[in-house]
Amino acid sequence: MKYSMRQSNGQSGLFTSDQAETQKETTYPAVSFQKTTESDKTRKFREQFYNNVTDEQWNDWKWQILNRISTYKDISRFLDLTEEERLAIDVESTHCPFAITPYYLSLIDLNDQHSALRKTVVPTINEQIVSKGESEDPLSEENTSPVEGIVHRYPDRVLFLTTGFCSVYCRYCTRSHMVDGHTQIMRQHWDTAIKYIRDHEEIRDVIISGGDPLTLSDAEIDYLLSQLSDIEHLDMVRIGTKVPMVLPMRITENLLNIFRKYKPLYLSIHATHPDEITPESSRAINAIADAGVVMGSQTVLLKGINDNVEVMASLMHKLLKVRIKPYYLFQCDPIIGSKHFRTTVAKGQEIIHGLRGFTSGYAVPQYVIDTPKGGGKVPILPNYYKGRDKDNLYLYNYEGKVYAYPDSEEDLDE
Ligand code: SF4
Repeated sequence: MKYSMRQSNGQSGLFTSDQAETQKETTYPAVSFQKTTESDKTRKFREQFYNNVTDEQWNDWKWQILNRISTYKDISRFLDLTEEERLAIDVESTHCPFAITPYYLSLIDLNDQHSALRKTVVPTINEQIVSKGESEDPLSEENTSPVEGIVHRYPDRVLFLTTGFCSVYCRYCTRSHMVDGHTQIMRQHWDTAIKYIRDHEEIRDVIISGGDPLTLSDAEIDYLLSQLSDIEHLDMVRIGTKVPMVLPMRITENLLNIFRKYKPLYLSIHATHPDEITPESSRAINAIADAGVVMGSQTVLLKGINDNVEVMASLMHKLLKVRIKPYYLFQCDPIIGSKHFRTTVAKGQEIIHGLRGFTSGYAVPQYVIDTPKGGGKVPILPNYYKGRDKDNLYLYNYEGKVYAYPDSEEDLDE
């Protein structure tokens, strides 16, 4: 057993048995969402729209899912719809399902038609416009899927698509063609997918994704992690999720206890905007860190939402404060109806240029394009290279000044 350090049967892997025993005896404080951890915005929203809902209900993730705003009629109770939103509602069909948890809706400034978070989750008629270069599955994941539920694009790692369900649907989702609540159908393929991972010894890293895997039940998450932990050749498992940002009450003590059993466990947290870092999400994320899970972020660059240095720096700084290392900044994938979300690549380079050197390197994510047709991620940098002669490289620093670095093949005997 290489991956799991401690299993429910008490057998230790990388731990010695004494260490495992010490771990078993450790008690952890429960995570509870007291009203005192609530932001003013959420409190006011609840008073206005959910006055009869108790704290217990509001802080129950299942209540949040059951009470999602998922019809166009529902959303017009909360928002004065813009013309573009109203037209989308008239069409009543989009390529991507529509649902927002009451908690996430409470973070949106209801009177601001240009609120960043609103644009990420409320459909507009722009989603119906198909532009040049767009496709349903721009990354051709279906062509790199050897068995149902597995995407095997890189040599030593696979994506394990476990569910088509999310608590909130992002309008720019790369997998909008498959996120439609098909959890039951996808679950039928779990064992085939696990067998594929078991049969391929070159795989050392599995990313459990979807949909959002943290919307699965505790028992299902435990099952997936325990099955993967039994595979000798796996070094690590990652879970891709937006749950801590959109449904922080899902991070219960029971779920944390499951996380504590499997190490090393990584969470890739989808973060879009600094407004998502609230007292509620901070508390949940810090509890995940305390459970020994390593966290990195994934952010999609989105026009009019996070496409400026100030907003991006604020998001990255807030993530670091809650112990999430900024990991990837993705160029938005050209899914159908995404033109209104996509920026130029030059905009992404400008943002990275505005971060690198001006703030801690820890706060600078890697900017990548996931190349269409399954080519994989390609890192994109601003241009720091001015040129070279036989003795030196000439490089621009973050302030645009040029510095020479000695790089002579002759001197280095190559
Ligand atoms: S949470 Fe992830 S999978 Fe779900 S809609 Fe958003 S981007 Fe897509």
